[in-house]
Amino acid sequence: MKVARVRFEGESHYAMVLEDGQIELLDGAPFTQIRRTGRVVPGASIRYLCPVEAPRIIGVAYNYRAHTAESGKEQPVLPVLFMKPDTAAIGTDEPILLPPDSEIVHFEAELVAIIGTGGRRIPADTALDHVFGYTCGNDISDRVIQRQESRFGCLLAGKGFDTFAPLGPVIETDFDPRDAQISLRQNGILRQSASTRDLVHSLAEIVAYLSGFMTLKPGDVIMTGTPAGVGEIAPGDRLDVEIPGIGILSNPVVAEA
Ligand code: MN
Repeated sequence: MKVARVRFEGESHYAMVLEDGQIELLDGAPFTQIRRTGRVVPGASIRYLCPVEAPRIIGVAYNYRAHTAESGKEQPVLPVLFMKPDTAAIGTDEPILLPPDSEIVHFEAELVAIIGTGGRRIPADTALDHVFGYTCGNDISDRVIQRQESRFGCLLAGKGFDTFAPLGPVIETDFDPRDAQISLRQNGILRQSASTRDLVHSLAEIVAYLSGFMTLKPGDVIMTGTPAGVGEIAPGDRLDVEIPGIGILSNPVVAEA
C-alpha cells in the first residue's frame, strides 16, 4: 500500500494512492491505524507533500563502508547518529534552497524508514514489525560546516538547513528493506547506485539501538545512511533519488533568495 500526504483544495491530508491512480483521503495520521474515509479524488487534483508532517528525523552517518572510505573516516563501531529539524523536511518537487554563503553542499541518497508502533528496548529480531513503511530521502549536507562541526563531534547545522531533508514521494508499506536498490541521478546522470545489503548497521539494528535510549514514536523518520558517490550540487540541478517499489523523489536545486 502506498500512503502519502497531499495538498487538496488548499488543505493537507494523509492519503492512500489507489490502484487506479486516484487518491483516497484518510482521517488523521496513518502510522498506527489507517482510517479510510471513502473520499476519493483524482490523482491530478493533488500535490504530494512531505509524507510525514513535521517529522522528527534521525539520521545515521557513515553507514556504508565505501562512503565512509570516500569521506576519509574510520569505520564507526556504534551507529553515528544525528538529527535534522522538521523545518528541513520537504516533499517531492519542492526546491532545495542553497543558502547564498554555502560553498560545498552534497546530495546523499538514502532509504528512509517511518516508524509505526513505537516503543522502548525493541529487540532487533522484531524491530521491522515497528516500521510502518519506507520512502526515499536525500540527506543534503553542507560539507564545509559539517567538517568544522565534526572536529568537535557534532553534526547539526551542516545537515539542518531549511529544505535539506527531501522525503518522498510516498510511503510504501509493503517493502523489504534488506535488499533494496538505491540510486541517485543528478541531471539524469547516475551518481549513486547501491544495495542496502551493504549497510554496516542494518535497519533492525538501528531501531534496536535507538529504542534502547529513546522512545520511538509513530511517524518518526530514520534515514539509514548514504552509499558512495556523493557529490556537489548547484542551482539549476535536478536530483532524483529512486528506490524501485517506492518511487522517485525528485527535487530541483535553487539559490535561496
Ligand atoms: Mn546521510
